[in-house]
Amino acid sequence: MSPSVPPLARTPEEWVEALESLGGRAFHARQVFRWLQGRSVLDARRMTDLPTSLREKLAPLEMERTIDVADERRAADDTRKLLVRMRDGARVETVLIPGVTGPKGRLPSPVASDGDPTFAAMEQGDEDDLEDDGPTGETKGASPVIRVTQCISTQVGCAQGCVFCASGVAGLKRNLGADEIVAQVLTGRAHLDEGERLTNVVYMGMGEPLANYEATARSLRILTHPDGIALSSRRVTVSTSGLVPEIARLGQDFGGKVGLAISLHAADDDTRTHLMPINRKYPLATLMDALRAYPLPPRRRITIEYTLVAGKNDTALEARKLVKLLRGLPVKVNLIPMNPIEASTLGPPEMSGVLGFQRILCEAGYSCFIRRRRGDDVAAACGQLALLGAKPKVRVNRA
Ligand code: SAH
Ligand code: SF4
Repeated sequence: MSPSVPPLARTPEEWVEALESLGGRAFHARQVFRWLQGRSVLDARRMTDLPTSLREKLAPLEMERTIDVADERRAADDTRKLLVRMRDGARVETVLIPGVTGPKGRLPSPVASDGDPTFAAMEQGDEDDLEDDGPTGETKGASPVIRVTQCISTQVGCAQGCVFCASGVAGLKRNLGADEIVAQVLTGRAHLDEGERLTNVVYMGMGEPLANYEATARSLRILTHPDGIALSSRRVTVSTSGLVPEIARLGQDFGGKVGLAISLHAADDDTRTHLMPINRKYPLATLMDALRAYPLPPRRRITIEYTLVAGKNDTALEARKLVKLLRGLPVKVNLIPMNPIEASTLGPPEMSGVLGFQRILCEAGYSCFIRRRRGDDVAAACGQLALLGAKPKVRVNRA
């Protein structure tokens, strides 16, 4: 193990090595990993089945100080935004999104096929979850278990500069370490309400996960480790603006098992480059080749995210171009009416336009969902995860 691997980012095997120098035994490694990752107990003094001497030697690592929650806000729909602070004072946000509530408790996220704009939670599972696991409102005894999706950040700010995105406008401050990414989930899990269970994680908070590949990949290994949080890798989705070499790397490193979401937002290069500068480096043809090469397991699909920005990418012509571009690819499409951000005059189309766009995709045979804006009232929705309290470096008014 490289000595620089921080405690919360260590695998049990790496803990074996780390504990050796502290006088611990090999079997203590699994115990430590389980306390940390399985139970979110980060204070070594509370790891009661470890020898006292070992606990004392682990305590100075101060793992519980990796991040702390500086602020927590709850939206009317129970979405919770946690503002978390790193040891160096840098702050990012992570969001807990409970499943959609129905009359008898929480029900599976419905498909937004009939146009109700309140449909379709942010969960990336959508109908794939239902095929395999039954409904979101699974029951444990009498009370339903509410499945929660957590959205996590991978960078402080983002260098990609997409014009509709608050994180992009803020610019990149630094990468998060794998420990800081994992700690968001440990903290999120510790903030669940009674009856909730963390089942899905989406890398859709602040930052571009594949621009911080090593930390993202390490965090994926930790979060899906069977002795830890043990998320199913198909319930973990990495969202990217389209970093082609790293998409290939992710596919290779995880055998295609980790969910992949592509922020497409346009079906021609001019429009896409205007919205997302990354398209200059990896234009659509290259990106589509990377998606075709992604080693997706049978019956799984890549999620295509398409943020609808009024007057930019929302016409029927663009919907038809999208139909053509995606032909032959195993995809489902999430349409996201743009959440207005302070730094831009861009905004979402009228709902009638969103529905018209959706209809074209549905009629062409695609699964197409309108993603409900969760937690709007606490600025927790996608793209609003700006650095609270910090003014954006630039104001973008490119409408
Ligand atoms: N950097 C990664 C992951 C974080 S962004 C990516 O771009 O995929 C998560 C999603 O939110 C992306 O699809 C992004 O395009 C979208 N998004 C960003 N700002 C938005 C906004 N203002 N309104 C709606 N969606 C937005
Ligand atoms: Fe970065 Fe994603 Fe925002 Fe683009 S949409 S600026 S890649 S966080």
